Amino acid sequence: MHIHPDDVFVDARAVVHALSPDEPVILNRPHAAVRAARFFIEKFPGKSLYAVKANPSPDLLRVLWDAGITHYDVASISEVRLVRATLPQAVLCFMHPVKTPAAIAEAYHRHGVKTFSLDTAEELTKIVDACRDGEGNSARDLRLAVRLRVSSEYSELSLASKFGCDLTEAPRLLQRARQHCDWLGVCFHVGSQAMSPFAFVQALDRTRAAIAQAGVVIDMIDVGGGFPSIYPGLEPPAMEDYFAIIARHFEALPIAYNAELWCEPGRALCAEYSSLIVRVERRRGDELFINDGAYGALYDAAHVGWRFPVRALGDAEGESMQDFSFYGPTCDDADYMQGPFALPADIEAGDYVEIGMLGAYGAAMKTGFNGFGNAQQVVVADEPMASIYDGSRLKPAVDNVVSLR
Ligand SMILES: *Cc1c(COP(=O)(O)O)cnc(C)c1O
Repeated sequence: MHIHPDDVFVDARAVVHALSPDEPVILNRPHAAVRAARFFIEKFPGKSLYAVKANPSPDLLRVLWDAGITHYDVASISEVRLVRATLPQAVLCFMHPVKTPAAIAEAYHRHGVKTFSLDTAEELTKIVDACRDGEGNSARDLRLAVRLRVSSEYSELSLASKFGCDLTEAPRLLQRARQHCDWLGVCFHVGSQAMSPFAFVQALDRTRAAIAQAGVVIDMIDVGGGFPSIYPGLEPPAMEDYFAIIARHFEALPIAYNAELWCEPGRALCAEYSSLIVRVERRRGDELFINDGAYGALYDAAHVGWRFPVRALGDAEGESMQDFSFYGPTCDDADYMQGPFALPADIEAGDYVEIGMLGAYGAAMKTGFNGFGNAQQVVVADEPMASIYDGSRLKPAVDNVVSLR
């Protein structure tokens, strides 16, 4: 069957019924991304940037833009070009602390990027030099953010060891950066899928110490990403609790009275956007050989043992359940997802399975290794397998529901 890009399927079963797909199919739920974006826009006590690396799909970028996300955290010159080409009006912030001079120059001179992050004096010099005009004059409109190293102890995926300057270096770097810009921020990242709002308390305490020692005016605090989604065994507190704690600690910082508060969610804005249909090609006891895996959308399932929700799409659903592990399609032993993934005990080759919550760091990570990696994309109208935004959360501290526009 030929599908038109505007076709909307009811759900995964309808897709299987219509296509009997021989290769994996990515199911996109624009309504879920809109809901996530509206949630951040209405409830986060500051500005929400979308961290593009979580899922750079142009369709998703347009959905988020239409929902009201105006600022985008980009980390490479390819992401700069992609977002600029897709969303000509968007504000781009180049938040990778190690950039090439050519990337900085192209971003600044060609794509209008003014905001850059840094965590060393060398990077500061690089940015200042790359943004000079033809006569060698310094740029007057730079907006710089010094990246602090903070703990990842509350997060499932650490971002603590690679980037960020520590408290002994931060005050001096803030003072130096202040000399090159009229707008200076501090940013950090508590690690991805932060399972407690307390992660942000620790990071903001460290931010306060750095600012107090530096004694410079700070115009922006960027609390980064790390906002969680829901996966089996990873059920975080209500998002409201994160926002409330961040607001309280932000207000207590020694910063400019009109300082801005930013965040850069990746996962939280797109995890619910996509799921994936795979087919069981072979069963060996409690191991299922499926047609996507570690080199496809299931990188995190293989490499960090992430469990994603699954459901069988055949008639077997409702029978007694059993725990399975998955092998992906490539010839590599590492193409293995331990799970456990609970599926009907009588599942067999030829059956289809939907794997949920793959909109962040899933669909975006597919490679063509070993000749696998093709996947058709379609739009479906049903709800994601779990949602942090649909009001179904247990005991949210405050009302967690937003209306769709
Ligand atoms: C990856 C990244 C993000 C997004 O992180 P999530 O955990 O997906 O929210 C935000 N900011 C920076 C600088 C990043 O590297």
